[in-house]
Amino acid sequence: MTDWSQKYEMVVGLEVHVQLKTRSKMFCGCSADFGAPPNVNTCPVCLALPGALPVINAEAVRLALRAAIALDFTINLQSVFARKNYFYPDLPKGYQISQYDEPIAVRGTLRVRTPGETATHDIAITRLHMEEDAGKSVHDRYPRKTAIDLNRAGVPLIEIVSEPDIRSAAEAGAYLRTLKQILEYAGVSDVSMEEGSLRVDANVSARLHGATELGTKTEVKNVNSFSAVERSLQREFERQCAMLDRGEVVRQETMIWDASRGTVRPARSKEESHDYRYFPDPDLPPLILDPDYVARLRHTLPEMPRQLRQRFATEFGLNDAELDAVTAESSLAAYFEGVARAHGDANAAAKWMMGELAAALNETGTGIRDFPVRAPQLAELLDMVRDGKLSHTAAKGVFATMRSSGKSAPVVAAEMAVTQVGDDSQIEQWIEEVFAELPAETSRFRAGEKKLTGVLVGAVMKKSKGRADPKKVNALLSKVAG
Ligand SMILES: [Zn+2]
Repeated sequence: MTDWSQKYEMVVGLEVHVQLKTRSKMFCGCSADFGAPPNVNTCPVCLALPGALPVINAEAVRLALRAAIALDFTINLQSVFARKNYFYPDLPKGYQISQYDEPIAVRGTLRVRTPGETATHDIAITRLHMEEDAGKSVHDRYPRKTAIDLNRAGVPLIEIVSEPDIRSAAEAGAYLRTLKQILEYAGVSDVSMEEGSLRVDANVSARLHGATELGTKTEVKNVNSFSAVERSLQREFERQCAMLDRGEVVRQETMIWDASRGTVRPARSKEESHDYRYFPDPDLPPLILDPDYVARLRHTLPEMPRQLRQRFATEFGLNDAELDAVTAESSLAAYFEGVARAHGDANAAAKWMMGELAAALNETGTGIRDFPVRAPQLAELLDMVRDGKLSHTAAKGVFATMRSSGKSAPVVAAEMAVTQVGDDSQIEQWIEEVFAELPAETSRFRAGEKKLTGVLVGAVMKKSKGRADPKKVNALLSKVAG
């Protein structure tokens, strides 16, 4: 396959829709929950019955502002809700309430580090605006019919639109992962692509290296994971490069990502006039923010990933890989900090989290919030390993039982009879027994054959059923050997 990146440059801008974590919808009191039976969460406002009037959800505004502050946006103290007019079966009003020329926030930035690169790149974000979601057309419920579910109609969203500053598929992936992490830390959204609370549309174009004008862009839609965004951008870039190389003209159109085939294809063109005839919604006054309120929100924002990373690096001396792992999510970072403080050895805590804990979370598919072993309990287990009461291997078994039983490390270790024995007289007794059972090896060992140490330690460990502290066994044996 041709490596087009030698000749052409990829130019990408991303539009990310994020569902805000409110209890109710953007302009009515209906539940914004995911997964309810179809059309249960509806009322005259989100069904667009005549005479129903929208009321702005204050909590949605608060969350949108938190997101804007976390992403270093300039907040507009006055913003305007506008009607975006278009016809679609799952849009009962015939328009979507959005923000157009006066959005709530403008000019943000996101600092991104692409995996494998050392330098960071600041991606400019054009705007952040608030809007309501549309309903959902369900095509697979009835044969040859389309069903409409309006539970999602009116759910609050923010749309975050980047400048075309992204230069590779990997950088697009890094932008999305960083954005998701910041929004999760700020507590504004569940940011789950599976549940549709984070959706991505990508604009992509190709141009010769060194060119200053942007090429014609296409929009890639229907992408349902970050890795699919990366793959679809790469495919679309290759398609455009091949066209440009043949002297053809790229048309501005919408491309659909086909995940099963790993290809992009043009969307069925349905007279895409892009004239939404925006105008200010006459039912909603301009949204005026009190500067003191915005300032107060600024102070309530928790530590963001970059600051937390910095603090963990200085306070706990973790390396980059450890920092990546323990700060991936805010709840994971809080858990790590709990273990590290209670146990004292931050490196041991990080190592356990990256190994045993990560494997356990992976295996069960649970998040750290629902994980049965809490931070103080894990710290207690790590204390036992450090104090020589548990071998690392035994600790793994104890950890597994703690997960299923909810009991503490000392209780489980006692029940499983795996507590490590560091008591000299007990270990000496086992050594004597091994000497008696292996007279030939013992006399060669006493005569100075050091290589037999391994055999004897192994025999003592076996005799103790793995409970003898191997360091102690070694030390006591080397005394015998003189
Ligand atoms: Zn409603």
